[in-house]
Amino acid sequence: MKKTIRDFDLRGKKVIIRCDLNVPIKDGVITDNNRIVESLPTIMYAIKNNARVILMSHLGRVKELADKKLYTLQPIAKELSNLLNKEVIFVPETQGKKLEQAILNLKDGEVLLMENTRFEDLEGKKESSCDLELSKYWASLGELFINDAYGSCHRAHASVSGIPKYLDSGIGFLVSKEIKALEGILNDNTHPFVVIMGGKKISDKIVLTENLLKKCDILLVGGGMSNTYLKALNYNVGLSIYDPDNIDFCKSILEKYSDKIFLPIDVVASKSLDGEKEAINKDVSLVEDDDYILDIGEKTRKLFAEKLKESKRAIVNGPMGLFEIDAFSNGTKAIYEALDNYKVKTLIGGGDTAFSVNKLGFKNKFYHVSTGGGATLEYLEGKMLPGIEAIDEK
Ligand code: ADP
Ligand code: MG
Repeated sequence: MKKTIRDFDLRGKKVIIRCDLNVPIKDGVITDNNRIVESLPTIMYAIKNNARVILMSHLGRVKELADKKLYTLQPIAKELSNLLNKEVIFVPETQGKKLEQAILNLKDGEVLLMENTRFEDLEGKKESSCDLELSKYWASLGELFINDAYGSCHRAHASVSGIPKYLDSGIGFLVSKEIKALEGILNDNTHPFVVIMGGKKISDKIVLTENLLKKCDILLVGGGMSNTYLKALNYNVGLSIYDPDNIDFCKSILEKYSDKIFLPIDVVASKSLDGEKEAINKDVSLVEDDDYILDIGEKTRKLFAEKLKESKRAIVNGPMGLFEIDAFSNGTKAIYEALDNYKVKTLIGGGDTAFSVNKLGFKNKFYHVSTGGGATLEYLEGKMLPGIEAIDEK
């Protein structure tokens, strides 16, 4: 068992909390503050327990000097301050006298946010390559390290897995909540266990598919992903996205797990991607050369819903169609409706998938919607997450 923030006496201590405050920002305005909101419980607990709170986070990818302007944490400090209803001291540095002095000036219960950890990527990728000097330096700024950056736990970066090499450490509430939910679904022995996969890419999700196929009873495949499977069965997918490099993978999986895998039997196709041309429901065998497959069809929705009716638990990764456009969102919606109606214990993983749940009106309807894309995928693949590995055991 990993230590958690509850295992430490925080009073008067300089506590570094690594959060994932990597929110989408457009023209200086935060468009979705969910990640900041999810970070609040740990920060508030530290404040309440009179810690001197030093927050760290990355934002975006910092490759050249001009990125510094784009990816400053300044707007995040403001939003955080609003949400906490409390001053957040923002230090626009990632090292040096100014930062050190500001930390020395911190009083019990005060909060400071350091500038974007990835500013240290400009010279030699120090953050992303987990430079040990940098890790040691950041560790020297505090007395305890708490990792609550769930969305970054699959990254072996200085601010994630480097600092705890030099400091006592524990996980925060968000990380514990996410891991508990993942274990809660994977180690629950109820069956049938269904995996629903969709979305754009197969290549990113091969290991995941293989790993989950060993555990699940049924795999329902939709979305852009299913086009590659259809192609492997020699169907025409017209102009639809598919992954030519992974047709052989699909063939082998279909052979090995023929009794478990269900593919679309009909689709919603259109002559354009933007929803401007007609959306036509057709059998998979009737797709034309100039068609885009953009959603699962009505018969498929029924078939998938039937499978879900008997199910006890499910993992969803990837939407069933191009849900961002209303005309192609009905397949994804139908699956969420079935999961909700039949009270299937459902874990949603994947960045776009989580977004689709909220957009289509299913917020708070499921057992767990994970806030981490890559971290959740890697966990479900059976990999250890470096950000969690690095934390002290109880
Ligand atoms: P996640 O981020 O949840 O892991 P992905 O990034 O793999 O999911 O895929 C999500 C994207 O896939 C969405 O933006 C969605 O519009 C797109 N998508 C799903 N089905 C199709 C399709 N048939 N054609 C084109 N894009 C699709
Ligand atoms: Mg995505």
